[in-house]
Amino acid sequence: MDDFAQELADLTADLKAVLLDARARGVLALGDSATPGPVAEPEPARATAAPEPARPVATPPLAAAGSNATALDRIRAELGDCTRCSLSGGRTQLVFGAGNPSADLLVVGEAPGAQEDRVGQPFVGPAGRMLENMLEHVLGLGREQVYITNLVKCRPPSNRTPLPEEIDTCRTFLEQQVQAVAPKVILSLGRPATQALLDTTRGIKSLRGKWSSFQGIPVLPTFHPAYLLRQAQDKRPVFEDLKALRGRYDELGGLR
Ligand code: URA
Repeated sequence: MDDFAQELADLTADLKAVLLDARARGVLALGDSATPGPVAEPEPARATAAPEPARPVATPPLAAAGSNATALDRIRAELGDCTRCSLSGGRTQLVFGAGNPSADLLVVGEAPGAQEDRVGQPFVGPAGRMLENMLEHVLGLGREQVYITNLVKCRPPSNRTPLPEEIDTCRTFLEQQVQAVAPKVILSLGRPATQALLDTTRGIKSLRGKWSSFQGIPVLPTFHPAYLLRQAQDKRPVFEDLKALRGRYDELGGLR
């Protein structure tokens, strides 16, 4: 079993144990007040450690979601073939965002990686698979139900962390996306996205799991899924963060 498959196996085993424990103790299960949501069996092992092919991801037609979709279309049109910062020189294509334009949960990552750059959608590589596991098995939400975007819309060279000027240049588009989608809660993934959203220099270890707000919308920071692929011991705090997120989402009437 390669490292990635092992991580998923560990994660799903952890989640299953916690859900079974919660069920045994009569504690409300996540995602469904009567029955815990399905917990996937571990991914089958992959034969080789070759890079995983990017997965095409179904995205609902924007036109289906009314004015939020129209607003997102407008923001995308304003971005155009953006050359506002130097990241444009190294990208294959801009990765705007994907998912439900009227989502009650908006997820903010850092920046597109190689596969996202190639496919044009956020989180379609290994970190995306981890994110989908987190969404589905802890929150009970499919990726098509939430809206997923990144702090910067173009892949930084060699996947380096986006520079402050790149973040500043792209920030207005993220702000507009948040306004257009108007989610009930925001999940911010990792240090750069969290620091930018919350306008802080504090580290992710002290920020994760603590509620803040962005444009008046509750934000919960947690570790980035790509980090979890390397640091298995931090899956547990992420699980706790996601449980808290689900609680707030439910309290606020989150449906989709
Ligand atoms: N990591 C991110 O932060 N965003 C992506 O879209 C993919 C990987």
